[in-house]
Amino acid sequence: MDMSAIRKYWGYLLLLVLLYGWTGDKFGPGVLAILSGFIVLYVLFQAPVWCTAETRNKSFCRNNAGGLLMGCHLREHKWQKFRMVVKTRYWGRLGRRFMTGIGAQAATFSAIAGIASAMTAIIALVVKKGA
Ligand SMILES: [Zn+2]
Repeated sequence: MDMSAIRKYWGYLLLLVLLYGWTGDKFGPGVLAILSGFIVLYVLFQAPVWCTAETRNKSFCRNNAGGLLMGCHLREHKWQKFRMVVKTRYWGRLGRRFMTGIGAQAATFSAIAGIASAMTAIIALVVKKGA
């Protein structure tokens, strides 16, 4: 694998490290929480996915975009999904878009795994402090 591929997909490599970390007591919950946080940020703002912003002819934009929340280089598309996240009535449509196109399922799965892992790690931290 060359360096540009690593730069592009480092979040998924991190996910593998995280999965490894969860098998047994290899890292503490603090490290797991930080790793999870990075994965979520990667997926939302950097993972290679389709833009999927709505174009004028009601189809999806298939330009490359970085991150589930971000659009492609077109100015109108850039913040379209971001704006939808703020409005709950768009969530159904947004969810379908997150699952559309190359890389999107992997990115969505990683986001869910990252969030679940972060919450589990934080709970483990809190429980540890309380004990
Ligand atoms: Zn676009």
